[in-house]
Amino acid sequence: MAMERELLKNAFSKPCTVIYPFEKLEPPEGLRGKHEYDPEKCIGCGLCARICPSFSITLKGGPGPKCTGLLVDLGKCLFCGQCEEICPRDAIWLTTEYELAVINKEDGILDFERTPPPPKTTPKKVE
Ligand code: SF4
Ligand code: SF4
Repeated sequence: MAMERELLKNAFSKPCTVIYPFEKLEPPEGLRGKHEYDPEKCIGCGLCARICPSFSITLKGGPGPKCTGLLVDLGKCLFCGQCEEICPRDAIWLTTEYELAVINKEDGILDFERTPPPPKTTPKKVE
C-alpha cells in the first residue's frame, strides 16, 4: 500500500529534473565556470600561471610589460578558482558559464589578448 501511495504522489508532483538542453536551470551563485579576463587590469605578473595546479594558464609574450595576454586551457582546468584568488588586480575571474563542451580540444583554449604598454622612455637631457 505504501508503494502505491508513493507512486501516486510522484505521478502528480512536479519533476525535480529539467529537459536539458531545452530547459536550463539558473546556475547557483558561486559556481566556478568559464574564465573572464580584463586586459586593462592585467599587469602580466604571471601569478595566476604560477599558482595554477594543473598548468592550465600560459602567459603570452613573457612576463611583465612583455605580456600580450593569457591562454587558459579549459581541458586541463580544475575550476579551483586559485587564479582568481591570487590575481592582485582582479584581472581574471570565473563566471557561472558552465556549458563548455567542445568537439576539438583546441576550441577549449581561451585566448585572451592584452596590448602591452609602450616602453618607458627616459627624457633626454637638455644641455
Ligand atoms: S581555476 Fe584553478 S585549475 Fe583552472 S586555471 Fe584557474 S588556477 Fe588553474
Ligand atoms: S591575470 Fe592577474 S595574476 Fe594573471 S598575469 Fe594578469 S595581473 Fe597577474
